[in-house]
Amino acid sequence: MNEGLITVSYIGATILFILSLGGLSNPETSRRGNLFGIIGMSLAVLATLIGLRVPSASNYALIIIGMAIGGAVGVYAAIRVKMTEMPELVALMHSLVGLAACLVGFANYLDPSAASHFVGAAKTIHEVEIYLGILIGAVTFSGSLIAFGKLSGKIGGKPLMLPARHFLNLGLLVIALIAGKVFLNAHTPEAGMVPLAIMTVVALLFGIHMVMAIGGADMPVVVSMLNSYSGWAASATGFMLNNDLLIVVGALVGSSGAILSYIMCKAMNRQFLSVIAGGFGTGGGTAPAAGAAPAGEVVAVNAEETADLLREAKSVIIVPGYGMAVAQAQHTVYEITKLLREKGVNVRFGIHPVAGRMPGHMNVLLAEAKVPYDIVLEMDELNHDFPTTDVAMIIGANDIVNPAAQDDPNSPIAGMPVLEVWKAKTSIVMKRSMASGYAGVDNPLFYKENNRMLFGDAKKMLDAVLEKLRA
Ligand code: NDP
Repeated sequence: MNEGLITVSYIGATILFILSLGGLSNPETSRRGNLFGIIGMSLAVLATLIGLRVPSASNYALIIIGMAIGGAVGVYAAIRVKMTEMPELVALMHSLVGLAACLVGFANYLDPSAASHFVGAAKTIHEVEIYLGILIGAVTFSGSLIAFGKLSGKIGGKPLMLPARHFLNLGLLVIALIAGKVFLNAHTPEAGMVPLAIMTVVALLFGIHMVMAIGGADMPVVVSMLNSYSGWAASATGFMLNNDLLIVVGALVGSSGAILSYIMCKAMNRQFLSVIAGGFGTGGGTAPAAGAAPAGEVVAVNAEETADLLREAKSVIIVPGYGMAVAQAQHTVYEITKLLREKGVNVRFGIHPVAGRMPGHMNVLLAEAKVPYDIVLEMDELNHDFPTTDVAMIIGANDIVNPAAQDDPNSPIAGMPVLEVWKAKTSIVMKRSMASGYAGVDNPLFYKENNRMLFGDAKKMLDAVLEKLRA
């Protein structure tokens, strides 16, 4: 394939990726966005394969075997993964991007043809690219593996607070800088391998330490931050391989991940730097910790009483959270919504930006259940409507409806914007127990006078409520 055609294919793929990102920003256009992404990636892979500089039958055979194995693993994972495990899968995939950047960096450094290709300033620039690529790749790799462990519950969510941890990070940075200087002054690949290997170990340790120190409700920012890092790692790989498309695509992923991190921080009223500094929140799903312990009694209701409250309501706001995803209750939620709407009840959904375990988690589930987009509103769009709402129905949500965020300055989630469900005439919380949510913080909402608790698995309880409503 001639150079011109490859360039045109790359430009076409870049445009498709930009259209894909644009499409993914809205549920109504997200399918189209996905399709653009698939076509763009197919075009990119095809153009890269055809444009290989030293093509030979054995090269192609190896690549095809690699693609078949990778593709089979990908298809298997995509079919098997449950919606609640999606964030873990994404974290795992980010780790692979980091690992790939590291491996390409080492291979590129040891490649004798690349070494003879660059001289003088070009050689130094190429080595800086390799060094940065491996550095970002290693941080992304180990950080993403730890994020995977935390999200899947294999590692506790509690932040690891080593003594003098900021000095430890600073020490690692200094070692990486010194190793960088030695690396750039090395005259042979053998001599350069030592500082390169030292920096890789330092970067791996830094990735582990950075994510271990972040806990509780700050994890959404970490997931999107690692997403951003994986983009920059890909971009650095693009520089190493002199592949313009990889540079551009990496930059697109890197910058969109950075924007997402900013949006997440804003949604949680957190400063990006203090998230990175870590130490916020405790382990999730455990006995409540920190902040003033709420007092009072909880009032439990059953499915029939819940159905009665819904039947008498004129306006209902449903707030879904992680528990709805676990219970896979979205279809029953929509059945109840349809029934109430047929009876003239104004039913809307309130979506918190960090509800669930990944950005857009609730929107995806509700779209899957075919809930109309126009009744799915963001937190800011309907928070002021709670005082005029009869019933706020909270389905498997906890941290995102915690009034302590507003009332208790000592709470670990103080300042995080929340859905003000307690302002409705009655709020009903559906969950299995009194356990805390992901941030590990007790929730005073449960003890409020106008709050009711419907204990049990969300799907089972909602099926029972639906049956009572139909009766
Ligand atoms: P939470 O984790 O705060 O609460 C979920 C609640 O669901 C739990 O308290 C649990 O209580 C309940 N639950 C679990 N399983 C079921 C079930 N089968 N049926 C009924 N209830 C169930 O979730 P939220 O959505 O309110 O908040 C999200 C939290 O996750 C925030 O702290 C956010 O920072 C964090 N996070 C978000 C990410 C994102 O990108 N969106 C990524 C990583 C973390 P019980 O055990 O008693 O049933």
